[in-house]
Amino acid sequence: MKIGFIGLGIMGKPMSLNLLRAGYQLVVTDLSKAAVAELVVAGAEAVATSKAVAERAEVIITMLPNSPQVKQVILGEQGVLEGARKGSVVIDMSSIAPLVSREVAGILAGHGIDMLDAPVSGGQPKAIDGTLSVMVGGPQDVFERCFPVMKAMAGSVVRTGDIGAGNITKLANQIIVALNIAAMSEALVLAAKAGVEPERVFKAIRGGLAGSTVLDAKAPLVLDRKFNPGFRVNLHIKDLANVLETSHELGVALPLSAAVMEMMQAIKTGGQGDEDHCSLVKHYEKMAHIEVRRSQC
Ligand code: NAD
Repeated sequence: MKIGFIGLGIMGKPMSLNLLRAGYQLVVTDLSKAAVAELVVAGAEAVATSKAVAERAEVIITMLPNSPQVKQVILGEQGVLEGARKGSVVIDMSSIAPLVSREVAGILAGHGIDMLDAPVSGGQPKAIDGTLSVMVGGPQDVFERCFPVMKAMAGSVVRTGDIGAGNITKLANQIIVALNIAAMSEALVLAAKAGVEPERVFKAIRGGLAGSTVLDAKAPLVLDRKFNPGFRVNLHIKDLANVLETSHELGVALPLSAAVMEMMQAIKTGGQGDEDHCSLVKHYEKMAHIEVRRSQC
């Protein structure tokens, strides 16, 4: 089976490399020539447009920043819709607004093209290991047909409902991650200000009820002052904007998500929008006049 892959960034590049390793033929494109060149060295075919990708592939995967890029790549000029054949499947693995997933899927369905929205969780390390969690929305039969493709990049692939359900699940995921990072930041800043080594606090609590995947992944980065992404603050702001827009449309109030969104905005304004989302700790550090780091002695 030939797979098309559009969007070879932090996530898309390792995900597409795992598809090559699993034995799939790959045709790729990206705005970044350097990213495309790396895939070609690994064995992929490169083409200039998303239309050309769709002409050559039965399954077309997109891994793009947000809703506008997904609409542009699929529905825009020289886009997937212009090249895709009847019966092909678009799997959008980007994290976007659920309503946009439904809108794009509706237009594709009018041309006999199926779609799944299948955003992922796990970040770059799990994208490299091929152990991502994929949350999928779309028809059961299309899900079953595409399951082996998604499983080649993932530890778990779970269908949560019809089209849009994948991105609703991802929004739920991003609420929990954002609030966990904020909770970790508050806790470690308190410990540092009280003169208790944050590293020891982390070690003491990680096996108890306060332990979490977020704590294990992010506390060591904060302690080592490593803020290179990972997952950019700007991308988390994008996800929280989708969270709040969707919740307001549904008539649901999410006060904690709104509070973390405002702190992330402050981090972005401070010039750290392209840092890892754990740089949220810097907002708390500023308010407490203290830094969370490993003991120097
Ligand atoms: P990224 O910015 O590193 O990669 C996006 C890629 O899309 C870039 O290579 C860019 O050149 C390409 N692109 C943009 N517009 C294009 C166009 N019109 N045509 C072709 N290529 C185009 O982003 P990322 O971190 O890989 O994230 C991708 C998606 O995955 C986002 O929706 C993000 O929220 C989600 N996500 C990211 C992570 C993470 O840890 N980075 C984790 C889970 C989910």
